Amino acid sequence: MEKQPNISRRAPDIVRPTVDPARCEGKAACVAVCPVDVFEIVRIPDETYRDLPLLAKFKIWAHGMKTAATPNAAACEGCGLCVSACPEHAIRLQRAG
Ligand code: SF4
Repeated sequence: MEKQPNISRRAPDIVRPTVDPARCEGKAACVAVCPVDVFEIVRIPDETYRDLPLLAKFKIWAHGMKTAATPNAAACEGCGLCVSACPEHAIRLQRAG
């Protein structure tokens, strides 16, 4: 697993999770662990799906065309629980702005 930058707790207002659509299988571990409801599982947008490599397209199709979205990303507290919980290593924390 890739090591995440140790930026949580020090500056929570500038940390946001990003989901790699080529890795996410919509298993919802992030939804279960996030204390501030950042995530929801949605149907992958057509334009996102269209731009994925063939193997990723097949994987997402096989898992019901689901992916994690971050409609409440601004609420992120930078705890890192989603990064640790994701079985596909699809989530990263990045500085916003
Ligand atoms: S780092 Fe913590 S608060 Fe931010 S999205 Fe992940 S689980 Fe939620």
